[in-house]
Amino acid sequence: MTDTDPEALADRVRSGDLRLHELEAHADHDTAATARRLLLKDETDADLETVGAYAFDAEAADSAIENMIGAAQIPMGVVGPVSIDGGAAEGAYHLPLATTEGALLASVNRGLSVIESAGGAAARVTKTGMTRAPVFRVDGVVEAAETVEWVGKNLETLREAAESTTSHGELLDVEPYVVGDSVFLRFAYDTKDAMGMNMATIATGEACNVVEAETPASLVALSGNLCSDKKPAAINAVEGRGRSVTADVVIPGEIVEERLHTTADAIAEANTRKNLIGSAKAGSLGFNAHAANVVGAAFLATGQDEAQVVEGANTITTMDARPNEEGSSDLYASVSLASLEVGTVGGGTKLPTQSEALDVLGLRGGGDPAGSNADALAEVIAVGALAGELSLLAALASRHLASAHEDLGR
Ligand code: NAP
Repeated sequence: MTDTDPEALADRVRSGDLRLHELEAHADHDTAATARRLLLKDETDADLETVGAYAFDAEAADSAIENMIGAAQIPMGVVGPVSIDGGAAEGAYHLPLATTEGALLASVNRGLSVIESAGGAAARVTKTGMTRAPVFRVDGVVEAAETVEWVGKNLETLREAAESTTSHGELLDVEPYVVGDSVFLRFAYDTKDAMGMNMATIATGEACNVVEAETPASLVALSGNLCSDKKPAAINAVEGRGRSVTADVVIPGEIVEERLHTTADAIAEANTRKNLIGSAKAGSLGFNAHAANVVGAAFLATGQDEAQVVEGANTITTMDARPNEEGSSDLYASVSLASLEVGTVGGGTKLPTQSEALDVLGLRGGGDPAGSNADALAEVIAVGALAGELSLLAALASRHLASAHEDLGR
């Protein structure tokens, strides 16, 4: 029997009859969330009226949240359309972005409009591979070498085990790393349209059973941090994780001058001194101005795992002035996002507003062929990041960044 009275349900928690996380077992999801808000209001005096004013079916959020009290509502806007010549993306796209940073969408939209005037951007996913790297204990280097040798000779056996857990995922490679008596195996998967972290973890767990049965290695942790998930890590910036995607454009010099009020040379110099030299001096893994702004806002809008913005920031921006026939210079601009982890199925993409945002892109659900929707999403986000880089660098080069923020953001 379920309880329909949130006050009665809250009383049962107060009396110790129920625990806060058990409410959905005794009431529908909306009533459970209302009861938690009542309890929280008593304890903190916080008025949660707006948090409780969500429009989606709370049960649909069951796999996305525990102890639900409502929803954090983040403003969502749209930028574009922009034409993309992609490996998977083809045609004109609107990109929905959710953020609380005023001026961000205006800036990205300005960049996209300039890209559109130049005929659109090109984009390609150049590498795919969602990784999970378990760590094993061995006795020492002799057993470590024995384990590495076995893995090298038995990729097919590991593939069979890993792929037995999924109808979509494909094991691409297993890269071993030895540190003393620890052996790390970095499994990389093509996860098709899923971001793939659950898929890769489950598949790797199955492969680890085989490694333990066939080698002296004992599994210590299914994730040994060489994966590397949700932490700044050079391995992702170098080897890639999820999708490695590049977008680029050549903007005629006259468009740079008319629309961005600066020159290709000035933008290229700002990029070199800021994004390349400044980032190098700072010891940064990201050599860009603010790629994470577009990655983060697109992730929130489309239901990606927002903590993976960390990897999305592993972006290198290049800008070059290319002499043209008119005696001035055109601007070549590119962004290369080494480790963009995105999906159009699974995880938060199933939530109602996030699904609608994917509909705006025409990329909800599985692609045909499988993987093409997530590839296209990566390409569109990369073009958005390119627009953000262009607009910000142009603002810096023409020295009106502070006034734009004053006008739009405050
Ligand atoms: P998921 O929601 O766990 O699984 C997605 C599933 O969708 C796939 O496993 C696949 O089933 C199925 N699917 C249907 N059509 C597909 C298509 N066209 N392409 C690919 N798969 C398709 O999502 P996930 O992407 O694996 O994992 C994302 C979730 O993991 C997020 O919620 C994220 O927050 C969370 N996460 C988990 C970890 C972890 O360590 N476990 C770490 C970070 C984040 P089959 O496999 O049966 O084919």
